[in-house]
Amino acid sequence: MTVSIRIAEDRSQFPTRLSPAENRILSELRECSHPVTKQMLRDRTLLSLTAVNLAVDRLVKQHGFLHEEFKKEQTGSGQRKRGGATGFYRLIPTAEYYIGIDLGATRIRSCVLGADLKSKARLHSVPNIGDFQDACHKAADLVLEATKTIPVERVAGIGIAYPGSVIGGITRSAVNLGNDFLNRNLVDKVRRVLLERSSPLAHRKIVLAHNSSCTVLAERERGGPNLSRRRDRNLLSIQLGKGIGLGVSLDGVIYEGTDGRAGEFGHLIMAEAVVPCACGKKGCLEAVASASAVARLALPMLDKPEGQSIRDIVAAELRADKKQRLTSKQIEQIPRMLEGRHVVLAAETDEFARQLLRGIGQPLGQAIAFLVNLYAPDRIVLGGRFSPAYPYFESELLRTCKANCWGPSWKDDLIVLTNLPEEATCWGAAINLFEHIYGRILFGAVSRIEGMKGRRTNEQS
Ligand SMILES: [Zn+2]
Repeated sequence: MTVSIRIAEDRSQFPTRLSPAENRILSELRECSHPVTKQMLRDRTLLSLTAVNLAVDRLVKQHGFLHEEFKKEQTGSGQRKRGGATGFYRLIPTAEYYIGIDLGATRIRSCVLGADLKSKARLHSVPNIGDFQDACHKAADLVLEATKTIPVERVAGIGIAYPGSVIGGITRSAVNLGNDFLNRNLVDKVRRVLLERSSPLAHRKIVLAHNSSCTVLAERERGGPNLSRRRDRNLLSIQLGKGIGLGVSLDGVIYEGTDGRAGEFGHLIMAEAVVPCACGKKGCLEAVASASAVARLALPMLDKPEGQSIRDIVAAELRADKKQRLTSKQIEQIPRMLEGRHVVLAAETDEFARQLLRGIGQPLGQAIAFLVNLYAPDRIVLGGRFSPAYPYFESELLRTCKANCWGPSWKDDLIVLTNLPEEATCWGAAINLFEHIYGRILFGAVSRIEGMKGRRTNEQS
């Protein structure tokens, strides 16, 4: 007889949400390399000193996010002093941990972020063979592996990024994963596996989100020198991989659409295309300009003789040992194993591979111009596992995009390449978990209107 076990989050273990002032102060402290006083926090956030006092005290005593120390130093009036000393505050990066899982179409990755939302462990990755049960077990294994190096009691929960729309913990589409992933309670399954392995994380917060939303969140928070979350408030993130995704952050808020269905940029129909897409339609952008489209077009390259060909690149991955000969079964596998990234490797020496990659610049440039005209973004960041192909189609993409953009919306540094081709989605899954627990991350000085907006969003969500 099988006994059905009901597994639920243990809400008594959940921390309380942060107020907008607390969230904003935490964001400021993430950017500070040295301890700061309450006066400095007041100057940076434009909050009142009373609000800063209240928020900092809660962040120290209730949430345990901040370290407080008192130094004898003159820093102006209005400071809390103890025995003539001034309070200095800094974020404790190890106060809490957030685990991110990126359930991608070809790989499943995991990361651990600390309270500073910076990575605390190397990115781990295993292949996704397209089987739901296998993927959930691998995700749970990666979670358990990640918690070996950190105190499990400080893990706030698990954020999972899924390559399709989701409602709550349930998957609602699965274009690039296959029907085995359709309408499945992914969160519940991962909980069950963690429970079977006797992990306390089975009862912590687990949240599922569209991978495009996770990616743009990571680009906004951790995008590196090309991006600024203060300057690039309207940010679009395009992920090139097996499919093509779009994350939208408007005025610092992620736009997900009804039931998280926004961002299916890859299924924009390009008028001149007729090629079938995995979604069932014809002529979608990702049917002509994704890594899988390039891999399909590169199939004739496998006919070339051995030596310096794309066949050798794929074969090298199949061999466990360099000297080993491939079995006939492995040789049969080669066409199915061929991916867009192999074409990028071949392009170093092969003109046909370079031509294929150049060819995607035109449809991508045209589709991105639609986005520019629609959203007038501050910045568009190109990322994903196929983004290393960008140098091959950059000039064609920029030329087409500029030619199709409405004049004032175009600027030469509008499109930038990501600094996080592997990590963005995984980090974003962990940051999304943080926002689910504590409320939307706020940053910068509070203007009167913006402050009201922040309060409303945090209270309602
Ligand atoms: Zn499609």
